[in-house]
Amino acid sequence: MLRLPPFRYHRPTTAAEAVDLLGEHAGDVMPVAGGTDLIPNMKHRLFEPGHLVALKGIEELKGIREEGGVLRIGAGETLTSVATNSDIQGLFPALADAAAHVAGPQLRNMGTIGGNLCLDTRCTYYNQTEFWRGALGYCLKKDGTVCHVTKVGKKCVAAHSADTPPVLMVLGATAILHGPDGVRELPVRDFFVADGILNTRRAPGELVTEIRVPLPARGFRSAYAKLRQRKAIDFPLLTVAVSAELEDDGVVRSLKGVVTALGSKPRELSGWDDLATGHVLDGALIEDLAARAHKQCHPLENIIVDAEWRRAMVPVYVRRALERVTAV
Ligand SMILES: Cc1cc2nc3c(=O)[nH]c(=O)nc-3n(C[C@H](O)[C@H](O)[C@H](O)COP(=O)(O)OP(=O)(O)OC[C@H]3O[C@@H](n4cnc5c(N)ncnc54)[C@H](O)[C@@H]3O)c2cc1C
Ligand code: SF4
Repeated sequence: MLRLPPFRYHRPTTAAEAVDLLGEHAGDVMPVAGGTDLIPNMKHRLFEPGHLVALKGIEELKGIREEGGVLRIGAGETLTSVATNSDIQGLFPALADAAAHVAGPQLRNMGTIGGNLCLDTRCTYYNQTEFWRGALGYCLKKDGTVCHVTKVGKKCVAAHSADTPPVLMVLGATAILHGPDGVRELPVRDFFVADGILNTRRAPGELVTEIRVPLPARGFRSAYAKLRQRKAIDFPLLTVAVSAELEDDGVVRSLKGVVTALGSKPRELSGWDDLATGHVLDGALIEDLAARAHKQCHPLENIIVDAEWRRAMVPVYVRRALERVTAV
């Protein structure tokens, strides 16, 4: 049996109180929302905070509502409520779909969209028990000095493995952060950095309190496709999110694509607008876009499934996502 390390559990009722607790115990504290990732990680001794600040009791982190041209989603909303909310299903089907594909039903009932945005990166050599990691001499990300993936260098390349962030990026969403210096807004496309150890721009003393998604313009569509080993519960081996603004006749006004689970941050596919703007999104164009995505993506051996196979799947899943956009 894997046991949790000892810690003190704090139950604030406001975001301000939670931020104060993060400041008071700085360096030895973490926020916990659904706990579906953090608690197993603590059992594996990947994190050993002496204090946990629970977010579940904070009402400000709840609610999904339209206001001022955006859909406001509280960071504490569960993935089940994001997946089943009728506004999200109607306005942003790709987001509902991505949330519905995280883990399994019990984990979605506990896990939150804020926790999904702040999810730790994953790696074959990291998401293991302490005994397993110790037998290998640990690694850069925790307790060691080498990277077993790259073998050389001082950079961790663990994989960004969350399903909703790529979709939030193509939807142009913004994260609202509360910290000791007040509130700031950060576009989700700027939220991540290519560092497998600390892969977000969120400071340790900050909380994500809300995600704001701009309401879609006429002709806006979004879609999502996920590759995983078992359809019931697995983390992504590859996730593709796309959004398009189309004229009534199907001509592309703008097109965005993001892939993840390959490197330490979600990757925006470049050169799509040049190829697609002003053209109908038909089979030939979809093939060209899929081929361009394949050229840009070079997964590493950071998760257990063969990197070359995952690369070969990139055009397949890009094609699927684009076909879903045209089918809406
Ligand atoms: C078997 C299994 C399968 C899984 N499959 C998937 C999958 O397919 N796709 C996927 O994306 N995830 C998967 N997960 C991971 C996890 O369940 C989800 O990512 C979930 O959304 C995490 O949310 P949470 O509220 O439980 O986060 P927690 O576990 O509570 O927290 C995760 C991290 O985010 C931080 N955090 C949480 N909320 C906030 C906030 N509001 N502000 C600042 N920091 C915060 C925590 O400190 C912690 O570092 C899986 C987990 C398990 C155990
Ligand atoms: S990529 Fe390297 S440093 Fe990062 S978790 Fe994996 S083995 Fe460790």
